[in-house]
Amino acid sequence: MNTRRASGVSRASEVSAPPAAQRLPPTVVSEVDRLLAGRTRDIRLNAELARLFHARSWPQASKIIRAWMVWVVVLDVLTLAVNAALLPSEVVMKMLLPASILPPAAILTAIVFQKPRGTWIEGVALHVGVFLILLSVALVGVNTGGEYHERHLTIMLFVAVTAIIIFPVPLERSIAIAVFALGQYLVFQMQNPEITAENALAGALFFASGVVATVVARRTAGILAHKTFLLELRDRSRLGELTDANSRLELLARTDPLTGIANRRWIMETLSRVWSDEIAQTQGAAILMCDIDHFKQLNDSLGHAEGDRCLVKVAGIIQSCLRDDRDQVARYGGEEFLILLRDANQEDGVSVAERIRGRVEAASLPNPRSTVGAYVTVSIGLAVLNHRDATVSSEGLQRQADEALYEAKKNGRNQVIIYQPALPALST
Ligand code: GH3
Ligand code: MG
Ligand code: MG
Repeated sequence: MNTRRASGVSRASEVSAPPAAQRLPPTVVSEVDRLLAGRTRDIRLNAELARLFHARSWPQASKIIRAWMVWVVVLDVLTLAVNAALLPSEVVMKMLLPASILPPAAILTAIVFQKPRGTWIEGVALHVGVFLILLSVALVGVNTGGEYHERHLTIMLFVAVTAIIIFPVPLERSIAIAVFALGQYLVFQMQNPEITAENALAGALFFASGVVATVVARRTAGILAHKTFLLELRDRSRLGELTDANSRLELLARTDPLTGIANRRWIMETLSRVWSDEIAQTQGAAILMCDIDHFKQLNDSLGHAEGDRCLVKVAGIIQSCLRDDRDQVARYGGEEFLILLRDANQEDGVSVAERIRGRVEAASLPNPRSTVGAYVTVSIGLAVLNHRDATVSSEGLQRQADEALYEAKKNGRNQVIIYQPALPALST
């Protein structure tokens, strides 16, 4: 009967607080604000932001890289097939070996990018994979010789440029791809018997200007992607702050500031929410209207501050008397509390009400001018709803509890009265 259940409280905070918003660490938020306040071209992500950006962009970036790898394999196989159909077999044979480097290199790289494996492994895989792919395309021409030499080196540069443009990777990786491509072009053109070294160098410089422009374009695209990401982070952090502020406001709107328990607004909302659906599933419900006796006298004799302290103590005592999550208490008015017992019958109602009345009396809070005695007491009106009696509204049950409370006051206070339609009956 007197078992105290800490969970049986009705603090508005515990009942109505929405889930905490997902927040970014303050250091990240301030770095985001700092970067967004500066010029776009000066945006450089620090280690933490780079990590967040990598995590955020990884699914899309890896998808693009995988798709590109598949694309080069398809192109390699198709080109070889067309060449096999159109060119003399000795030429095709010369192409076969270098061309066969590409598919395994591309497929292995695509496999690495199937799931996150850490920046280091991904970096190595991308560099080695792209290097071998470019080498394969270049060697097809170098091995075949003649007109194919220069043609395949140009194709190799084209392949590199597509990779630089579409791979959303850090700038150093794009630069590495550009260096591989231009390096291979220069080295293999130097060995081209059909052109002079000067021509090879001039050609390399010509293509270098195009490749560098591509890298610059990639860098711009990268910076813009960083900026979009920073704006997204700022939105997220502002949304988080707004959600937190809303939660705090909602909590304030539902809490009685003096006692910390729920206020009248909250209990009224709860009543209308649970009444029709939940109550019908249970054995019934009870409402207790609990009012401190001669509280005005307490204020008059001991002062308003002592009156406030008494309210806080009585609220705490009531909470300690509740059963569990089914019971809820709210400060209904000045020195009046409404207690809702869900899944309760008359016996439960009387038991909780008597416990409250008894514990308040036993707390011996002074009320020297009370006509009941020297200490604070409460009167309680109890109304019980049987779940079969669906006609009674929550307001109706409150009115009944009020009437019972009125009877308790009339009968001398410090007692529990159960509402009876015709004849009010004394329970204690
Ligand atoms: P009864 O036994 O019939 O209930 O008499 P009562 O004196 O308790 O009831 P009454 O309605 O005459 O007086 C209630 C008093 O409660 C009057 C009001 O000043 C006081 N009160 C209301 N809210 C607060 C509060 O927040 N703090 C304090 N200290 N007093 C309050
Ligand atoms: Mg009173
Ligand atoms: Mg009152």
